[in-house]
Amino acid sequence: MNTPVLYIVIPCYNEEEMLPITAKRLIELTDDMRAKAMISEKSRIVLVDDGSKDNTWQVISSLHSRYERFEGVKLAHNAGHMNALWAGMTMAAPKCDCIISIDADLQDDVNAMYGFLQEYQKGADVVCGVRSSRAKDTVFKRTTAQGFYKLMNKLGVEMVYNHADYRLLSKRALEALLSFGEVNMFLRGMVPLLGFKTAVVEYERGVRVAGESKYPLKKMVAFAIEGITSFTNKPIRYVTLTGILCSVLGLAMAIYVLVSLFGGHSVAGWASLMMSIWLLGGLNLVALGLIGEYIGKIYMETKRRPKFILEEYLRHE
Ligand code: UDP
Ligand code: MG
Repeated sequence: MNTPVLYIVIPCYNEEEMLPITAKRLIELTDDMRAKAMISEKSRIVLVDDGSKDNTWQVISSLHSRYERFEGVKLAHNAGHMNALWAGMTMAAPKCDCIISIDADLQDDVNAMYGFLQEYQKGADVVCGVRSSRAKDTVFKRTTAQGFYKLMNKLGVEMVYNHADYRLLSKRALEALLSFGEVNMFLRGMVPLLGFKTAVVEYERGVRVAGESKYPLKKMVAFAIEGITSFTNKPIRYVTLTGILCSVLGLAMAIYVLVSLFGGHSVAGWASLMMSIWLLGGLNLVALGLIGEYIGKIYMETKRRPKFILEEYLRHE
């Protein structure tokens, strides 16, 4: 068994209260992993300061000067959770054998990392942490989050149920992920696109012990919209379908209107108005949907996603 160089990447936004607790916990954890020869001495913990307004950076730099295993990355402004994670992964990629991303609040049980590493040793390139229960989340957070996973699946986006951004990526999976050219990033949708061997490790999600959630409702809604619009054109398709439906209804309406007109049951002007409203409304929607379809194509093109991700290449030199 080889001992991999593990980089743990943590995005931190206004986490001055949480970081000392997190750091202590991670020092114990990595000490234990080193003692058990699960990870190499060269393993590091990368703390990414996502443009915090509090003393997060001071905490990070003092950890860095006190311990060899801590690295600090400071972003010039608040780039958001996903971008901060991306920054940390970019820094870690050249030096690591695998990375684990986890939130600064350690709501996701760090002990699951043992399981991650075992799966990695068994050959998995991607190991997703999955919450076995959300009992400790508020009812609101739980229902909205689960509704979101269901909606995404309906829209055809492949996502691991109840998996957030707590995961292990092997070096090659990480490099493949980093080769995605898109700016609108929704990592939990992108990781399944990699297609490498994926394992799942379950854990209990705890509560945040210090500081507040950096995801108020406003950010959650923005995140959900980001997830949908970064991954699928289906909403546009629904516009087109509604348009077609309206047109069909419009035709039925036209027949009804004409029958009423010739039966003498209508007021002057009614027939022409009704028919124009329905038929033109339907046509308008179809036309909008059609334009949308083309914009959707342009949108997919601009993502510049890799056309394939190589898993193996057998050849003779
Ligand atoms: N975070 C970040 N930038 C932001 C918002 C959040 O880097 O703009 C980090 C935050 O420090 C934490 C992680 O993203 O490490 C998840 O945030 P939080 O725990 O507040 O979210 P929740 O668990 O409530 O969904
Ligand atoms: Mg949290």
